[in-house]
Amino acid sequence: MLNIVLFGAPGCGKGTQAAKLKEHYGIDHVSTGEVIRSEIRRETELGKSMKECIAQGCLVPDQLVIDIVKGYVSEHCRDNGNIFDGFPRTIPQAEAFDQMLDEVGLKVDLMVYMDVPEEELVKRIMLRGQASGRADDASEEVIRHRIDTYRKQTAVVADYYAKQGKYVAVDGLGQVDEIFERIVKAIDGYKK
Ligand code: ADP
Repeated sequence: MLNIVLFGAPGCGKGTQAAKLKEHYGIDHVSTGEVIRSEIRRETELGKSMKECIAQGCLVPDQLVIDIVKGYVSEHCRDNGNIFDGFPRTIPQAEAFDQMLDEVGLKVDLMVYMDVPEEELVKRIMLRGQASGRADDASEEVIRHRIDTYRKQTAVVADYYAKQGKYVAVDGLGQVDEIFERIVKAIDGYKK
């Protein structure tokens, strides 16, 4: 059982690398951003309550995402392992995550931080926005706000895992395959 938190600013490439890691290790992948977008697409009550917040580039309330991840963990706790992408994004989320995993006899093994400079993040998200049509990828103002929110509320979550000796940073610049190799090396190094 391998539980990896894939971490980094918006646009750092978490989703791309998560798909490759999923295949490589034969584990599952959950992206809280994707779950939220699917709720919005299906126009559920939960989706309606989060739509405005997402379009403005704010974080949705902790309890909503904690409940989403709780549901996922209870369904997947007997699988080979999981990649958590976009969660936890605040300290209360990280604390709730430890507690919910502990309740089913699991733990986070490692947080992998993908390091990418701000200008590159903005460039990547603008490019992605042209293809994806994601509301939060369309304007530079919203993108910069998301990066700012990341700095103010999310970056501290790295310290939370570093204190537990579960943190590794990887250079997120370069070719997709190159970055993937760096991540695999970091995970395999940790496992030994
Ligand atoms: P990105 O990494 O590009 O920001 P995501 O798909 O991870 O994209 O997230 C998109 C949006 O979903 C975020 O800007 C935020 O509004 C919301 N979101 C996703 N995960 C969380 C979370 N753990 N806590 C609060 N909001 C979240």
